[in-house]
Amino acid sequence: MTALGSAAQTGQSWTDRYTASVMNTFGTPQRVLVRGQGARVWDADGAEYLDLLAGIAVNCLGHAHPAITDAVGAQLASLGHVSNFFTTAAQVRLAEELASLVYPGREAGTRVFLANSGTEANEAAFKIARRHGGPQRPRVLALEQAFHGRTMGALALTHKAAYREPFEPLPGGVEFLPAGDAAALERAMGPDVAALIIEPIQGEAGVRELGTDYLEATRRLTEQAGALLIIDEVQTGMGRTGAWMAHHLLAPGLIPDVVTLAKGLGGGIPIGAVVAHGPAGELLGPGQHGTTFGGNPVASSAALAVIETIRSHGLLERVAHLGAQWARDIAAIPGVEEVRGRGLLLGVGLADGLASAQVAAALLERGFIVNAPRPDTIRLAPPFILTDEEAASLTVALGEVLEEQSAGAAIGGRS
Ligand SMILES: *Cc1c(COP(=O)(O)O)cnc(C)c1O
Repeated sequence: MTALGSAAQTGQSWTDRYTASVMNTFGTPQRVLVRGQGARVWDADGAEYLDLLAGIAVNCLGHAHPAITDAVGAQLASLGHVSNFFTTAAQVRLAEELASLVYPGREAGTRVFLANSGTEANEAAFKIARRHGGPQRPRVLALEQAFHGRTMGALALTHKAAYREPFEPLPGGVEFLPAGDAAALERAMGPDVAALIIEPIQGEAGVRELGTDYLEATRRLTEQAGALLIIDEVQTGMGRTGAWMAHHLLAPGLIPDVVTLAKGLGGGIPIGAVVAHGPAGELLGPGQHGTTFGGNPVASSAALAVIETIRSHGLLERVAHLGAQWARDIAAIPGVEEVRGRGLLLGVGLADGLASAQVAAALLERGFIVNAPRPDTIRLAPPFILTDEEAASLTVALGEVLEEQSAGAAIGGRS
């Protein structure tokens, strides 16, 4: 029998078809999802979940938000794609909005390149770094535990050897420095460095924040050496931390040369952006960079709807307030060592003996979607529209799961 998408198919049969047809880059999918509404999703077998990962910090307005469905529908119904031989009001308005969100008060002299993903945004930033550096400045500095994406340039900036080594040779000249170590940065910095790229909070590393002093040192030292400072806000930007940009919160007054965005920017529609201020915004000239889909009016309209909704619903304040309260509540659970992060990007560090993958699996069984970026860390990155009650339900479930697993670990430890 051939089944071409019957809704009656169960999760297992879709998973079997997935395994036979989709490349095995992600392992077996945990569930087959069929529908979402607000912060909730439903699977092919009818089970309901509270989505506290939001597609990895993407669905900032939750699922099926009318602001996004209306904006995308209206744009697609009038003009869906034009190529970069042409422009649209949506593209121009989004570039203007991003200039003022990333560099408030410095819109003049700020320029935007629109891409389709985070890795592409970082790819463009890398090309800007090369244009700035030329042969005299071949070195590019990145940080240990950094994650910047999976295409060849962004991959070269990503620290994890298991991601990089199978694909070498990668673009050269990249060196990794210990995150947060200003002395190491000072030693490495010199007139042959084109750029330093950092995440203000390292998301894939388990939600690890760079301190204000260190962030300020990155600006001072890059400026002294004539190198660009690139801030990857792909995961942390667009309100996720309770400010438009995490670096606004962590190092007020710091002005980077280049900022990259994606994930939450389109609220679920694929889009990325590079925002550059000053000379860095002038380095890519005609013919030096491009992408067919970048800046397309549908994705641009989705991003404009996200920005307008965050603004008109006061979601930055909501994210900051709910995140701070939730972090305090979760930190009080026995078995939780610490809660890292800001706003609604939280890393829950578990006590010794607790395995985050098992905790995430137990939560999924209870109807909560989270993930485990590190063996000792659970990441929470829910939609900004999460209610107090929804957040509290995770706090209760996490307490129960950790109690069960601590008991299991203690028994296991004795045997
Ligand atoms: C997810 C992520 C990327 C890569 O974005 P993609 O859209 O998956 O290519 C880059 N940098 C950071 C900090 C990220 O979290």
